[in-house]
Amino acid sequence: MLVAGIVFAAALFGHLTRPLGFLSTFWPANALLMGVMVRNPGWAGPLGWAGAAAGYLAADFAMGGGIGITLWLTAGNLTTASVGYLLFQRVSSPDRRLERPQSLLFLLLIAFAAAAAAATVGGGCLVVYFGQSPMQAFEFFLTSEFSSNLVVLPMVLTAPPLAELAKRLAAQAAPVGWRPNAILPGVALLASILVATAIGGTGAIAMPVPAILWCALSYGIFPTALLTFGLGLWQSTVLLSALTPGTPEYAAALTSHRFGVALFSLGPIMVAAINAARSRLLSELDLAANQDVLTRTLSRRAFLARSEAVLEQNLAESRPVALFMLDVDRFKLINDEFGHAIGDEVLATLAERISELLRRDDLFGRIGGEEFAILVSGLTQPATLALAERLRDGCARLRVPVGRAEPLALTVSIGVVWGTGGPASSLQHLLKQADDALYRAKRAGRDRVVDETLQAA
Ligand code: GH3
Ligand code: MG
Ligand code: MG
Repeated sequence: MLVAGIVFAAALFGHLTRPLGFLSTFWPANALLMGVMVRNPGWAGPLGWAGAAAGYLAADFAMGGGIGITLWLTAGNLTTASVGYLLFQRVSSPDRRLERPQSLLFLLLIAFAAAAAAATVGGGCLVVYFGQSPMQAFEFFLTSEFSSNLVVLPMVLTAPPLAELAKRLAAQAAPVGWRPNAILPGVALLASILVATAIGGTGAIAMPVPAILWCALSYGIFPTALLTFGLGLWQSTVLLSALTPGTPEYAAALTSHRFGVALFSLGPIMVAAINAARSRLLSELDLAANQDVLTRTLSRRAFLARSEAVLEQNLAESRPVALFMLDVDRFKLINDEFGHAIGDEVLATLAERISELLRRDDLFGRIGGEEFAILVSGLTQPATLALAERLRDGCARLRVPVGRAEPLALTVSIGVVWGTGGPASSLQHLLKQADDALYRAKRAGRDRVVDETLQAA
């Protein structure tokens, strides 16, 4: 029923763009149906396709189409959607969601193949009922399907799930203040469409290029696909109305125009896809630069940089800070007995346990091989010591499975320095004092916390 409803609505919409008793200039129903089936393969059974057929037939009969034309065109329409659906089953799911720049190549090929198949099935209808030559009929059907496929499919394939869309819209609706960067590309697009409509002529189709590319770089891939759909609709209806059907030039101009619309729409989507891939790469790079791969704690560099910033903030607000230096006891023995790989596993497990005991705002970094640093702010001195003790105890209770042997137990020593700011609390000074405290903990027998109240340098 849902599929039938979607197809019925889209087909009615297509009928409304029908010029002067001829076929529609813009027919989004087939591409929409293809996209919906690709997104919901569970619907693509006999029942779903029957629903789609019912939707086409109902819309045609509602518009008063003859039975022969209606059945033949419906066969063509279903060919686009089903051939496209089958071909999309053969590409990977990231490509089905247009997540990579090369996905666009698959989209282009599938859009064309589905259109060619539909033109083969449905083209004859135009020969028999509209007196076109076979070549004209094929060309008309092919370009109509090809351009609708490329204008409509990106929007359907990249649409986020409805629940997520609602969440995003709610977030957008929250007061965000005046953000010119967010709306300027859209305003520029609207302005260039108005200007292009006013100027008209063969160049009009390309006039929105800078604005739509600006949109592609500013918004995500789905908003870009939505805007490109709007642009395609404008190109396929308003711009096309300058051509007069029935003139000798009309057929050739229509073919050229539709190929233009089809290939035009790939541009912005490609830019948005490349931009999304680039953003993903940058965030991976950021992770690689700031996170320790083995323990998923902050890298040494990131820990030091973020600690500097937190210290500065705390100094300004005269909030107390504490720095912990934590070192695994006799770690060399673990490596020697179980091997380096198990040693690595122990470090990862240990870091995970410590993370669980910390708060979100605490900074936790791997300073050296089996040595970690933790910066906490806003705790009193007793609370700080209690936390250090909880960490030591949590590590001592840890049991790491090491194959056949008994689970492995280990202990850590922790040096703590606590202070309420002042000129002495530079990061270098804190690190030195915590290191001294750690050294004393080791000398005193390990598996313990030694604290040091911040001394003036
Ligand atoms: P203690 O600290 O109690 O004095 O004794 P320890 O055995 O832990 O001594 P130390 O801190 O000097 O030794 C650290 C050892 O940790 C030396 C090195 O082989 C090992 N190590 C350092 N980084 C890694 C790592 O990434 N993986 C593994 N498996 N071992 C590491
Ligand atoms: Mg050690
Ligand atoms: Mg060490």
